[in-house]
This record gives sequence, C-alpha cells and structure tokens, in this order.
Amino acid sequence: MQALYYMGPERLELRETEELPLAEGESRVRIQATGICGSDLHAYHGHDPRRKPGLILGHEAAGVVVEGALAGKRVTMNPLIVCGHCEYCLEGRQNLCSNRTMIGMTRPGSFAETLTIPDHCLIELPESLTSVAAALTEPAATALHGINRLERALLRPLSEARVLVIGAGAIGLLVSLILRYKGVRHLRLADTNPLRRRTAEQAGLVTFDPRDEAPDANAFEAVFDCVGSAPTRDMATSAVRPGGAIMHLGLQDNKGSLDVRTITLKEVTFLGAYTYSSSDLRATVALLDSQALGPLDWVEVRRLDQGAEAFADLVAGNTPAAKVILQP
Ligand SMILES: [Zn+2]
Ligand SMILES: [Zn+2]
Repeated sequence: MQALYYMGPERLELRETEELPLAEGESRVRIQATGICGSDLHAYHGHDPRRKPGLILGHEAAGVVVEGALAGKRVTMNPLIVCGHCEYCLEGRQNLCSNRTMIGMTRPGSFAETLTIPDHCLIELPESLTSVAAALTEPAATALHGINRLERALLRPLSEARVLVIGAGAIGLLVSLILRYKGVRHLRLADTNPLRRRTAEQAGLVTFDPRDEAPDANAFEAVFDCVGSAPTRDMATSAVRPGGAIMHLGLQDNKGSLDVRTITLKEVTFLGAYTYSSSDLRATVALLDSQALGPLDWVEVRRLDQGAEAFADLVAGNTPAAKVILQP
C-alpha cells in the first residue's frame, strides 16, 4: 500500500509499504478520507518529540473496514487507544487514560491506504454521512468537548453568553459553528489571517482582525483560545468578563506568563481541555449527520499523493481551507 511517511523536519515521502498483520481484536480499515491536523503540522516541523521520523502521521479518518469484526461497515475512529480499566477510563474520561497510545503517534496513522486499529476504537457511520464529513469527527469532537466543559462553568445558559473565539483554524471554526448551533447569538471570531477570516465569514460568522481592533476588555462571558499562544492568552484574560470563563484549547506555545493576578481578581474560571471521550465522538457523528454545522464547504479535498504539497501550503498559510482532507 501507499503511505505518506514523516521522514524528518519538513520532509514527507510517499512510499510503498507492507500492510501490518492484523493482531487479535483489531480491524483493518481502508481509509477514504483523512484530515491534516495542527498536531501533524507541529510534528512536521520536528516540534513533537513523541512523533519520530519514519512514522505515518494522521489520526482524523473515515473509511471502510476490510478485515475484522466489523468488515464491510463504514466507520470513523477514536485515534486514542485506551485501556478501558484505569480510573479515568472507568470514570468515562478516556481521554485522560493513563495507558493511552495513539495512531499517528505511537503507531502508524491514517495517511495511508489502510491502517490497523483495535475494534473498540471504531464508530459506525450512518449511511447519510459522507466520508469527508466523517473525517471531521475528531476535530469537531475536540471542539464539542471544550464547549461542554466550559458550559458547566457558566452560571447562565451558554446561549445567553457573549462569546469570543480566538483563532479561525479548524478548531476555532468548529467551536464557532457548534456555538451557533447551540443558540449563541453574540459570537465574535478573531484571526489575523485574512484568508481564514473570509472562509469563516462565508460560513456566516462575524470575524475581526485583533491587530486592527483589540477585543473590548471585560466584554465576554466566555472566551475560547483556539490558538494557545502568549498573545492570545493575554487577549483572552483581558477580554473575559469578571466571573466569566476561558477555555484554553490551542497548543501553539508555552511562552509568556499567564496573568494570574487578573484571573484571580476577576474570578475567572480558566479551563484546559484535551481531545474527547467516546461519547463526545458519538455525539459528534450525530451532530455532523444532522447537518447542524451547515455546509462543510470550507474543507478542501486533495489526493494522498499531494499530501506533501498540502502540508507546505498549510504551513505557508496559502490555503483558505480551514481543513485539508486527503484521499488515498
Ligand atoms: Zn487532530
Ligand atoms: Zn485507561
């Protein structure tokens, strides 16, 4: 089969490789659509010590089971392989599993014609959901998980909140679309990239360039930082209203210092969120299938053998697409 290998910083190679033998309790999935994630780009730059050269990246995928218990079924997958018996798994917080591994990180990922994955990671798809839309399940579940966690920290219903979303990449866009579906009317989306702002505006969202107009201080009950950099953390801390909540979803850098004095004096709830539980993924499949997020025309589809160019374009900020999906 063909697979796109990460061979070192800024080096991807399409290579012919043997399929892995199937282990007990695993299935082989023929990949039909697989999204490029910010974390794949992070690895591509050589910034992720967990993703070592010689690895097939990719963990957002949909396809058809060709071998295994669910043979013939269309599926998406939980890329996190969890143990099912640690304290976190038993509490339903599988994303924090102490023994978790992951496709595209500790084992071969989805930028390939097929992959092998434990049966318990597979989620069957409804007929009506396309593979391209289903490949958005993983990032959309990350957005949903963050929203659900923040919602619990608010005193008033989320739909009444004034909300600021920072970053119009895939996660920021999906957070915004889910918030709109949940009835949030006062929603502002900040991004410095004009191509991304245009894409978000075409999806009906209200955007602005925070370099031209800084968001008002103390103006938002809820702020989602979908970038996660020193300047966006400062923006979030300033923009959040006293008593409000900040959801920190981005992982861009760990620089600067968080203004904990302001957070304390404004009595802000500052939350992190990492990935999703199995129930978040299932809820997301239903959400995508109901078309609640509108036309997903901000997705760009390319062939797997154009993967290296797609990475280069994403790094250069050359594509208006909030998500590039590869098809083997
Ligand atoms: Zn991802
Ligand atoms: Zn576990």
